[in-house]
Amino acid sequence: MDRCLQCDGQKYYSANFEYYNGTSKFNIVFQTDLKYGKLGYCRTCKTHWYLDSDEKNIYPVTDWQMDYLEKWNTKSLIANSKTIELLKEIKATPIDIAGNNKEYIDFPCKVRINDVLHHFAIISFQKTPPVGSRFCKQKTIYFIDDVQDIFPSDFVLNNSIRYATANSPEIRMGFSPTVIKDSNENLYYLNWNQSFFDTDGLKGKDMILSGSFDFNNNNIKPSENILSKIIYIIGDWNDDFLKLRINAT
Ligand SMILES: [Zn+2]
Repeated sequence: MDRCLQCDGQKYYSANFEYYNGTSKFNIVFQTDLKYGKLGYCRTCKTHWYLDSDEKNIYPVTDWQMDYLEKWNTKSLIANSKTIELLKEIKATPIDIAGNNKEYIDFPCKVRINDVLHHFAIISFQKTPPVGSRFCKQKTIYFIDDVQDIFPSDFVLNNSIRYATANSPEIRMGFSPTVIKDSNENLYYLNWNQSFFDTDGLKGKDMILSGSFDFNNNNIKPSENILSKIIYIIGDWNDDFLKLRINAT
C-alpha cells in the first residue's frame, strides 16, 4: 500500500508515529535530520511530514509551515539572560490537567517586534517547528530573535487565575469553566486553560478569582474569545523553563 493519512483525506494535524508506522498506510520516508526531529515525505502524495525528536508523533507540513520550518531549522533560538530575567517574573502558564500542550512552555506577555507592540503574545519554548493543531491556521509566526522588547501585558491574567484555569475540571462536555470577577463583583467565566482576558473594556490585570458562586443563579458572563488576537513567538526548548510554570505553592 502506498498511501498516507493525507492520501486518505483524513486531514490529521498530527498522528501517533508508533501506531501509524506499524500500519499498511505508512509510506513516509524521513530522510532529513533537522535541529530537532526529522523531515520526510509521502512517496505517493508528496505531502511533507515532520517526525518529532522523541519519535512519538508525526505532523503533516503545509507549504506555509514549510517556510517557517526552514527558518526555524537554521536558527539558534536561545533566550538571552535579560529575557530569562523577564520570563522569571512573567511565569509560564501551566499545562492543563489533561496534559494538552505539554510540548510547549508558554509565557504570555507583550512584545515589540518591528517597532509594533503586540499585547497578546505567547513566547513558546518548544522542540518542534510550527506544525500541529496550534499552528493549523495560516498566520504570521515570529521567532525569539525577532523580538526587540518584552514586557508584562495588562491583558495577562494573574498567576492564581492561570493556575485555576489549567486545573479546572470539565463539568460537562467541552465546558471547563473558571469564574473570575472585577472590583465591582461583575462575574465572567473563562473556558479551559487561558492566559489572557479582554472583555467589556476589562483587562486581565483587573480580574481576580471569584470565591463562591452558583452557575445557575449568579449572572456570569462569558469572556470574549481572544484566540485570533494571539501571536506566537517560538524559542528553543529549555528544561530549566519547566520550573517557571506556575504551580500551586
Ligand atoms: Zn500521502
